[in-house]
Amino acid sequence: MIDAHRPPSSRVAHRRQGGGNVQAAGSVYGIRQKILAGHLPKENCRMTWYGPGTGGVCVACERPIAADDVEVECDLPTGGTIRLHRGCYDIWVAEWPTCDVG
Ligand SMILES: [Zn+2]
Repeated sequence: MIDAHRPPSSRVAHRRQGGGNVQAAGSVYGIRQKILAGHLPKENCRMTWYGPGTGGVCVACERPIAADDVEVECDLPTGGTIRLHRGCYDIWVAEWPTCDVG
């Protein structure tokens, strides 16, 4: 459920540290929680596309994907498409295989 109270701020303070890792908006912990709760799928994407943000909301961190961010669009084998920040996508693909319940 997305709360629409927050105005879309185009001026997000974005701290960029030079080079190296992409700082994801989501955290490993938060994304793991979503996987475990079933809010994020545990499956490989059938297809992925990388492109600039199109104003969608990242399924992993529920923040908008800005036009100067990289958006990963992912087709699921079971149908449907999800969009994530590139950093969130990287966390998700690394984490879901380790999130086996049971
Ligand atoms: Zn995200």
